[in-house]
Amino acid sequence: MSSDSTLRLVWVYPDLLSTYGDRGNLLILAHRAAARGFPVEAVQVRSDQALPESADIYLLGGGEDGPQSLAADRMTADGGLHRAVERGSVVFAVCAGYQILGHSFSARGASCPGLGLLDLRSDRDPQRAVGELAGTVDRQLGLPTLTGFENHGGRTALGPGCAPLAHVTAGVGNDGRTEGAWHGKVLGTYAHGPALARNPALADLLLRWATGAAALDPVDDTWPERLRGQRLAAVGAA
Ligand code: GLN
Repeated sequence: MSSDSTLRLVWVYPDLLSTYGDRGNLLILAHRAAARGFPVEAVQVRSDQALPESADIYLLGGGEDGPQSLAADRMTADGGLHRAVERGSVVFAVCAGYQILGHSFSARGASCPGLGLLDLRSDRDPQRAVGELAGTVDRQLGLPTLTGFENHGGRTALGPGCAPLAHVTAGVGNDGRTEGAWHGKVLGTYAHGPALARNPALADLLLRWATGAAALDPVDDTWPERLRGQRLAAVGAA
């Protein structure tokens, strides 16, 4: 973090990666950081702008195939996200953004190079995965059941260099068994929703990674917890 302890958040390419209300993840992080007394600076960086390298958390959302491959090309040419990860920044990516973090992904019938920030590859399944998604989160992360909404044609195979975010109890995620992935402070998921509105403890994990705080003051999570309970009950994963 900066010397004045301002938390700097970057929403990467709102013009290309912004399906299913994923920008809500930026609002949730800004809100939960401010509630703990951290000054917050949130910026949206379009694909025709350079990515800053010194932010604390970078957020990538979902997207259709065309914008997804354009976004991957732009991010590779820019190089800012790679440099930020080398500096220790946090990255949280959803669906198309998650696939872009891997070595390769499939879009419009072609295999496209990804950023290689997570050890995974995505290809295409004829059957789209659409609907509620839930999973038991990797014990190391110490989080409650993940819940979200998925809509993707991609299927993702994890390499040994990353761990699954969760083990699927409803829906498909990566391949019907695991969902999402993480390594270091880079984490991706197929969960829209937006994911951080539906999983406030995941939002707080990202804030702890970014701030180095061992714990954060509690905030009133009555409403998000009610929503989580309803969605988990709806898929029989409560
Ligand atoms: N285009 C990608 C797929 O279908 C990602 C979709 C999304 O971000 N919702 O797998």
